[in-house]
Amino acid sequence: MTLSRREFAKLGALGLASQAVPSALAQASGRKIGFCVIGLGRIADHFLRGVKDSSVCQITGLVSGHRDKALKIAAQYGVPASSIYSYEQMDAMRSNKAIDAVYVALPNSMHAEYTIRSAKAGKHVLCEKPMSTSVADAQAMIAACDAAKVKLMIAYRLHYEPLTLKTIKLLRDGTFGEIQAINSANGFNIGKNEWRKDKPLSGGGPLMDVGIYSLNAARYLTGEEPQIVTASNSTIDKDGRFTTVEENTAWTMTFPSGVVASCTTTYGGDMPGYYRVFCSKGWLQMDNFGYEDLRLTGSYRNSEGKRVALDETNPERDPKQFTREADHLAECILKNQTPKTSGEEGLRDMRYMKEIYRAAGVNNL
Ligand code: NAD
Repeated sequence: MTLSRREFAKLGALGLASQAVPSALAQASGRKIGFCVIGLGRIADHFLRGVKDSSVCQITGLVSGHRDKALKIAAQYGVPASSIYSYEQMDAMRSNKAIDAVYVALPNSMHAEYTIRSAKAGKHVLCEKPMSTSVADAQAMIAACDAAKVKLMIAYRLHYEPLTLKTIKLLRDGTFGEIQAINSANGFNIGKNEWRKDKPLSGGGPLMDVGIYSLNAARYLTGEEPQIVTASNSTIDKDGRFTTVEENTAWTMTFPSGVVASCTTTYGGDMPGYYRVFCSKGWLQMDNFGYEDLRLTGSYRNSEGKRVALDETNPERDPKQFTREADHLAECILKNQTPKTSGEEGLRDMRYMKEIYRAAGVNNL
């Protein structure tokens, strides 16, 4: 759904057309953007709650292999039973006018199929990261959405998070001087019964799942595109968990300005997510790539040479990041704009992850 000319004229009269906020746009169009959630696992729960808090979006459909579970969730979010689909039947959502967009919250290797089927059903797509499990799949997803003239957005929620946006601004406006180097890590100790460690579903190890945060952050912090220099994979724990994917990946990247980034990810130990940026006039550190409690610390020398300390947290609680990302896609649909984290952005990370595997001596993705 995009705004009609008359709806835009209405906004114009209100002085809102040029920079209409999502709520004003939704009001002008007379209804909220309807999302159908595909896959009702852990991340879907955050998204469902995030959309419930939105003034622009609502949940209007569910796709699940477990109808009982879907019925319970449908009752919670006011979704009619007729808008619950099985994976096999979900193409029927084509005729469901209450569904504008889907949220693909399935294991990684299923992203491509469900994005493409949703696009063919005429629905805009918000797809979880990593975009896919191969570069070719990512390209096919973009092509399918282009052909169907629907939006494709990858759910890089931190691109919409205020403290992250403030950090990027501080780095761009020269407060910290030139970036010299970046260190980042993100990982956790994975359980035995997790699809994430099964390559046919995940496509790869921790790089695909959580290392991608360090890769993506190094790109948005510098605003540049990297060259992968070195990488290595390792598996330390021989306890049966890592038979199809690696346990650890470490890699380095250089950026055209000369910035060097070194990153580590694991499925084998506690590794709280963070990045540290070392600059000519100071340094900063962001703790946590999570849904809340992001904390920015650091210091820089001001124009008088005095050191200024920084210590800021974002007080917003989960599921606010999910409200923000859903609202962004809604706004793009209503204003017919390309999402900030488009399919192309997801494809770039797929290409860099392929390069990281290659540098580690593995042909993957
Ligand atoms: P999950 O295991 O909690 O949920 C997966 C869902 O897919 C379940 O509802 C499950 O029933 C369904 N499913 C359908 N076919 C399946 C199959 N063959 N095997 C396993 N599950 C199947 O997973 P999750 O943690 O919600 O992750 C889903 C996606 O979201 C992944 O791509 C992941 O990378 C992404 N994710 C993103 C974030 C984020 O912060 N953006 C956080 C966590 C996960």
